[in-house]
Amino acid sequence: MPIPGSGLAKGLAVTLRTMTKKTVTARYPDVQPELPPRSRGVIALFEENCTVCMLCARECPDWCIYIDSHKETTPPAAPGGRERSRNVLDRFAIDFALCMYCGICIEVCPFDALFWSPEFEYAETDILDLTHERDKLREWMWTVPAPPPLDPAAEEPKEVAAAHKAAEKAAQAAQAAREAEAAQTDGGGQADGGPQTDGGARADGGGSSERPGEGEA
Ligand code: SF4
Ligand code: SF4
Repeated sequence: MPIPGSGLAKGLAVTLRTMTKKTVTARYPDVQPELPPRSRGVIALFEENCTVCMLCARECPDWCIYIDSHKETTPPAAPGGRERSRNVLDRFAIDFALCMYCGICIEVCPFDALFWSPEFEYAETDILDLTHERDKLREWMWTVPAPPPLDPAAEEPKEVAAAHKAAEKAAQAAQAAREAEAAQTDGGGQADGGPQTDGGARADGGGSSERPGEGEA
């Protein structure tokens, strides 16, 4: 049988315990929360990378990505070549009223065109305003944190290795061109200097040819 007043004592004990503990209540919006940099706040679009492959729209479980595009044909680079066609983005929108922040679209994008931004303050009073069009999605890119640094022991990415190789080749070609130019300049100087030296010799020779004359005189 419970002792009378024990419930009250327990309640007071809890009150006293929590009174002395540090508060965990966030005073948002007066104080901004300290979120991890990789928080899933909003999806940003880097539209320059988007090839309109439609993979994100097809994989989205909520069907909340809307993409419109048209085809553009460019003439062949050389006569007899093939015409090239490419997709041009007309509309890219995400309905954040439907989005469940699963991140599948970001995972499947093969061209690094979608990123998480930790920005979360985009509540609206009209649900229709939660559909962000491409300009707004592009603006979110400015809030995407920089990627974490690479592991120093990691293998160099193929693209970086290829870029380094190309830069080395270009530097070697430039050095070879400079050396060839310097050699040509030296050769030209010698060719010019030859006659001068000869001329000097001739002048000397002229002097020496006169000396006998002088001697004779
Ligand atoms: S996070 Fe998930 S639900 Fe939201 S747009 Fe991407 S795939 Fe769709
Ligand atoms: S998956 Fe990436 S490249 Fe393809 S349409 Fe979506 S954002 Fe664009």
